[in-house]
Amino acid sequence: MGLSAISIKRVSHWIAGKPVESASGRSGTVWNPATGEQQASVDFASVEEVDTAVAAAKNAFRSWRATPLSRRSEVMFKLRELVDANRRSIAGLITLEHGKTLPDALGEVARGLENIEFACGIPNLLKGGFSEQASTGIDVYQIRQPLGVVAGITPFNFPAMVPMWMFSNAIACGNAFILKPSERDPSVSLYLAELLREAGVPDGVFNVVQGDRVAVERLIEHPDIKAISFVGSTPVAKSIYEGATRQGKRVQALGGAKNHMVVLPDADIGMAADAAVSAAYGSAGERCMAISVVVAVGSVAEPLIAAIRERMAKIKIGPGLESGNEMGPLITREHRERVAKYVAGAEAEGASVVVDGRRDPAASKGPHFLGTSLIDGVKPGMRCYDDEIFGPVLSVARAATFHEALSMVNENPYGNGAAIFTRDGGAARQFQFDVEAGMVGVNVPIPVPVAYYSFGGWKASLFGDLHMYGPEGVQFYTRAKVVTSRWPDPASSRVDLGFPQVR
Ligand code: NAD
Repeated sequence: MGLSAISIKRVSHWIAGKPVESASGRSGTVWNPATGEQQASVDFASVEEVDTAVAAAKNAFRSWRATPLSRRSEVMFKLRELVDANRRSIAGLITLEHGKTLPDALGEVARGLENIEFACGIPNLLKGGFSEQASTGIDVYQIRQPLGVVAGITPFNFPAMVPMWMFSNAIACGNAFILKPSERDPSVSLYLAELLREAGVPDGVFNVVQGDRVAVERLIEHPDIKAISFVGSTPVAKSIYEGATRQGKRVQALGGAKNHMVVLPDADIGMAADAAVSAAYGSAGERCMAISVVVAVGSVAEPLIAAIRERMAKIKIGPGLESGNEMGPLITREHRERVAKYVAGAEAEGASVVVDGRRDPAASKGPHFLGTSLIDGVKPGMRCYDDEIFGPVLSVARAATFHEALSMVNENPYGNGAAIFTRDGGAARQFQFDVEAGMVGVNVPIPVPVAYYSFGGWKASLFGDLHMYGPEGVQFYTRAKVVTSRWPDPASSRVDLGFPQVR
């Protein structure tokens, strides 16, 4: 497929269809989470380098927006084939820098690919409305046009999928895109850039600027950036939303989460325990849709905790590239220490640590490794409940009734995902009706919507009006223009100074 060699020693930018090394003199370390050793360094863009990428994108936008829909769709189909054919290479790069297991990384690629598949249907998605004879001899129609140069700023935990959430629709809609990936696992962005070029995306339509807040702040300020999509932690999401909207930009900024899974007494205990363990410890808990709190209602707590412990003991922890492992290391040594501190502090706050991941033999596999933890008796007000831990720690909170459980979910400041496990259809329906979260699972622990719906939380999990990808993604990356048109008919033409009205 003709990929040029990608150095994992130095990860640079991608501007106007080719790799560009930074001259900023600033860079960051890319660790190998499985060993704790440095495996690459990533360039950090200067303001001038961001400006160069924006200029390349602006230049490419002019002809890309005029490129026929059928051609843009053809490019997306070709990209779909290339990503599909290179799933393993993409997943391998993810595992190498993120640390998640290879099957998990393959799952990430598959969920990202869905978004490219959705964007293949762009001619259909951009069809506008047409009203013939809105008034005598007058037709009114709406068209959706791309915004121009748009930027995406992405988190470490899905280095391929989240960029695909954004650029698939952005590019298919006719925009030029600038990606600022996470500095923790930046290489996959360059691999995707090569595939986009090979698929026929013109030079400058897709660009990558590597870096830190210097790059992000320039993207927010740059007058030629028309919209910003962000996914990351809540404090950064909020500040990007505030900063970019102040500059008059369109913004969707997705933040952190604290996802609750309510288990009612009538639930199938085995199924609920399978789901809780998979959703809490998959990807070492570094998923924005991970379950971090199980709310056990009434008598379900004891048997559920026993079933969860039984399953936890069997999880195989080790390097993500070694087959058979189900959970890998955490992204950095500092993050591992931060997560471990929540477990260490839980007892002092009045909770009880049922399983302590720090004592797991797997915790000695390397400086980024930690075992799985289970904390019982967790309540609002405790740090291990209030904060997003983003690690392999599952809390159990107890509630006497369905309504008490629902109130706990709704009083939490985050509102990304929420799930209920029950056999009672009425209770599930009431939960769906009342719960304040953007994505709800009924006997499904990680309800990430398929690509033809849109992804987004409520409350502190999303700042902005439109959710990401799917139909709302298309809306986000386009703006509407309504045309009122009359073709002259000399027979009905006359001077009329009154306000236009239907005749
Ligand atoms: P992060 O907020 O630290 O970083 C996200 C991006 O913002 C990165 O590209 C980073 O370089 C940049 N950034 C970081 N600090 C910045 C600053 N002060 N100013 C400007 N830019 C800055 O997040 P992360 O640690 O990479 O990812 C984990 C977080 O992302 C978790 O909170 C998780 O819940 C969240 N997340 C949310 C979703 C969602 O859909 N809601 C999806 C994935 C991850």
